[in-house]
Amino acid sequence: MRVLERADECKAFAVGRFVPTMGALHAGHGALIEAARRSDRGPLVVSIFVNPLQFGPAEDFERYPRPMEKDLQFCEERGVEAVFTPNAMEMYPSGHERIAAPADLAGGLCGRFRPGHFDGVVTAVARLFELLSPAEAYFGWKDAQQLIIVRRLAEERFPATRIVAVETVRESDGLALSSRNAYLSPEDRKKAPELYRALRKGREAALEGATAPETVGRVRRHLAGVSWEPEYVELRTVRDLEEVASGGVALRAAHGTLLLAAAARLGSTRLIDNVRISASRMESE
Ligand code: AMP
Repeated sequence: MRVLERADECKAFAVGRFVPTMGALHAGHGALIEAARRSDRGPLVVSIFVNPLQFGPAEDFERYPRPMEKDLQFCEERGVEAVFTPNAMEMYPSGHERIAAPADLAGGLCGRFRPGHFDGVVTAVARLFELLSPAEAYFGWKDAQQLIIVRRLAEERFPATRIVAVETVRESDGLALSSRNAYLSPEDRKKAPELYRALRKGREAALEGATAPETVGRVRRHLAGVSWEPEYVELRTVRDLEEVASGGVALRAAHGTLLLAAAARLGSTRLIDNVRISASRMESE
């Protein structure tokens, strides 16, 4: 496995499949790598870069875990051909263009609580795509808003790159894997799966004919029952993150998949999660 540190090394390396990450790799990242391995589009490259532009001033950039040796081993064991580990100067040479995330996609959900976050994401992803020109890039549903914003970015600026979405990997109790779960105290860790449980309750309610406000209300009620106040609970379309504020959810889902998403803090840790509601899913569950 090659470790590429410089932008020019990267440009010379033909990339087929690309998995961008911030490191502290876990089975969620592993699922992206596995999905990429199943494709045959050429060399598989993982990037590890803790992107300062996507952290707010009061966020955890400094303390974000950076177990580089372990991460490299993780990639090597999974047959990754090269890992790109740029520093901030390689990523953002002076005068490098900052890109704004589309306001219609980045305004709600996490964007409302993390101003500038998606501008930072889009700027980093665009730079990585420019350097690597991948045929395919893999992103997780765990960060659904990010995935939808990156899809738009690719459509508009990188049409040769196909964005592939990978299902969220969870612990056995339902908690979505995240590098930030390591911050949770043992007590908070016990409570953390309630976020996913609440979202599932919301989806069940939708299945049983609930309206949009009732569906969101069901999620909030479950969280209130465990004394947990979410930052947001929102129901939106997957296609363009349009807010679904009224009407029967089942009916709306018949016209396109919906995203029921929430964020909530436990101590200093911010957790996000989501479930999707689609007509076919409703029939099968
Ligand atoms: P991060 O290192 O947190 O920036 O995540 C890198 C990529 O891994 C993103 O596309 C995430 O959506 C994805 N990812 C993170 N956690 C999970 C998970 N539990 N399941 C699936 N994908 C994930």
